[in-house]
Amino acid sequence: MQAHTMRLYTGGFENDSSSHAQTVITFQPMQLEKLTAAARDMFGVDLSAEQRTAFALYAEELIAWNKARANLTAITDPEGIEIRHFLDSLSILRAVNVPPNARVIDVGTGAGFPGLPLKIIQPSLQLALLEATGKKIAFLEHLVGALKISGVSFVNLRAEEAGQAAAHRESYDLVLARAVAHMPILVEYLLPLCKLGGKCIAMKGESAIAEAHHAENALRVLGGKLLNVHPVELPGVAETHYLVVFGKVAATPPGFPRKPGIPSKKPL
Ligand code: SAM
Repeated sequence: MQAHTMRLYTGGFENDSSSHAQTVITFQPMQLEKLTAAARDMFGVDLSAEQRTAFALYAEELIAWNKARANLTAITDPEGIEIRHFLDSLSILRAVNVPPNARVIDVGTGAGFPGLPLKIIQPSLQLALLEATGKKIAFLEHLVGALKISGVSFVNLRAEEAGQAAAHRESYDLVLARAVAHMPILVEYLLPLCKLGGKCIAMKGESAIAEAHHAENALRVLGGKLLNVHPVELPGVAETHYLVVFGKVAATPPGFPRKPGIPSKKPL
């Protein structure tokens, strides 16, 4: 893997060629051995040198911003980030074949999970990162700029607002969410954004099957159909994760999603 070169300016401007002191530090980024091996074994994905460099930079920026500016994640150790954020995000590949150029939206993306790791693996995706908190959007804009990735848009709205906006409603082939809301609420956030014939994936913990059962009414009302629940075992992680996959089989009625806050106050 290539080393990054970081320039620390101790005075003056970046294009200032005067005598201000400038220190150039070269450091070795995270090696990401666990991620590299598990992505190959579990998902048949061979990470390129560029992709490993991108994940290393992602981890560094996440740790730095988490400390200095924004409460982005409770997982701050490099191995946790590698497995519980990056590898967990890539587990989506186990549940669906994401076609090239697919329009994907990650709802309540936080620091970019699961959408951004998928985009690093599959650069042709047209990815929208939806997040209600402005500070998190600021991190994502900075990170995507640092990673020099194109084809990513930022949606600083609540899911309930995006689902009623013409630019987003029934516009995405694949709608993703991890750790955002209980299933009956989440179905109301995700299905309105999904194209007819498209799929939604809710990433869940041990409660996945019970939650999928509780979401039956929401699925029926909003035009969805439960397709599958995939278990995912991550190396060194005791609890099983689940991917709850549901399809969009009928148009969502115009009154849904309801106004911000109503889906969580009065779940379907
Ligand atoms: N998906 C990320 C992950 O797995 O690391 C973040 C999970 S975090 C626990 C939940 C995120 O969803 C928060 O960043 C929160 O601001 C966002 N969120 C919750 N409800 C939302 C809504 N109705 N619309 C948009 N974002 C929402």
